[in-house]
Amino acid sequence: MIATCPSCSWPSPTLVSSHGSVHYLRCVCGQWLVSELGSVIATAGSSTLTESIELEHGVPVALPKH
Ligand SMILES: [Zn+2]
Repeated sequence: MIATCPSCSWPSPTLVSSHGSVHYLRCVCGQWLVSELGSVIATAGSSTLTESIELEHGVPVALPKH
């Protein structure tokens, strides 16, 4: 298991893309998840965190601030 959806608790969202330790997943409920080291660090879709998400190659990407 890479991440559990915070919206619907689905235990195995589909892995769409990975960049190092960061994984981008899409849940069956339509929620996008950004997971790093086993923890969900951002979501997109019905979330209010979309300001930190930008599209890159059609996949939501969290921009590292460090
Ligand atoms: Zn979900």
